[in-house]
Amino acid sequence: MATGIGKSARSSPDYDVLVIGGGPAGLSAALQLGRSLRNVLICDNDEPRNGPAAEAHGYLTRDGISPEEFRRLGHEEVASYGGEFRDVRVTNVEKDGSGFTSMLDGDETITSRKIVLATGISDEFPEIDGFEELWGNGVHHCPYCHGYEVRDQPLGVLVNNQHTIEYAKLIYNLSEDLVVFTDGQETLGEATRSAFTERGIEIENEPIRAFNGSSDSLESISLEDGREIARHAFFYPPPMKQHSKLAEQLGLKVTEIGLIEVGQSEHGVGFTSIDGLFVAGDASNASAPSIPSAVADGNVVGATVNLELSQEAFENS
Ligand SMILES: Cc1cc2nc3c(=O)[nH]c(=O)nc-3n(C[C@H](O)[C@H](O)[C@H](O)COP(=O)(O)OP(=O)(O)OC[C@H]3O[C@@H](n4cnc5c(N)ncnc54)[C@H](O)[C@@H]3O)c2cc1C
Repeated sequence: MATGIGKSARSSPDYDVLVIGGGPAGLSAALQLGRSLRNVLICDNDEPRNGPAAEAHGYLTRDGISPEEFRRLGHEEVASYGGEFRDVRVTNVEKDGSGFTSMLDGDETITSRKIVLATGISDEFPEIDGFEELWGNGVHHCPYCHGYEVRDQPLGVLVNNQHTIEYAKLIYNLSEDLVVFTDGQETLGEATRSAFTERGIEIENEPIRAFNGSSDSLESISLEDGREIARHAFFYPPPMKQHSKLAEQLGLKVTEIGLIEVGQSEHGVGFTSIDGLFVAGDASNASAPSIPSAVADGNVVGATVNLELSQEAFENS
């Protein structure tokens, strides 16, 4: 692998494809590309979104696998087709002729014909003691990922806007022993309050002071007025933002909820306003935020990139 400042993607690039982000989406794209005889570099700075969780659920044949084991297996499969890995953050990407020059932490540069941006999203936590510590293990965002394991237990859910009212119904499906916490927000109308209380759902309006528990489970929730409510798990979908600054640096269009807008055509998916630069997985507005969706999206984006490379090589042959 040739590297060094001042290189240009106009000469022969270092790689066919630089995949930025080695989570489920990036690994899946890299697998598809490796099996299509492309030389691929995956740069990943090892901050997976589901890193705090002990187990990952809902991926057929791998239900309950740990996030680390999932990535280890993905690395192994991608490496078996020649995929290379670097444990490093990509700090800058620039269009350079028909290809790209990307800068890594430490100022090394890499050139590639194409880029797959699979950098994921990060969740923004409320400033409540214990929330971050218990995130993924007692405090959850996704009833599909971690709901079954806490079914029929005493649960809590934060309802602080219209969207979370519907979300609370998903949690009620898991357990009828449910407390709705509004954290001091006046968001529940009279009709919603009655609908909840008629079903035996308690409503707690007092602001939350802290989440208490051990590293792998919630025990109780402390309120500002000094009371403590015993709960086994708490659900709350935090707002999200792009994990990396690359979308902003590249001037890519980002939706109101923080996802990169991508396009599709009869030739594939994951297209952006920059020719040759594709987005896959959670970072994209075309993929649902889950491992199976990220893998599926990465797979199709990988195939789309390979088709473009094949068409270009065919034209030049
Ligand atoms: C606590 C928690 C538990 C979850 N549990 C489940 C579950 O059980 N089942 C399920 O289906 N989904 C689950 N999810 C959702 C799941 O984690 C995501 O949908 C999935 O990881 C998305 O994959 P991705 O490859 O798009 O992004 P990620 O997995 O987030 O991977 C992105 C990678 O890109 C890297 N990266 C970012 N910027 C750069 C950069 N500039 N340079 C180099 N590398 C970079 C990051 O370090 C990261 O490794 C969970 C999410 C959370 C928050």
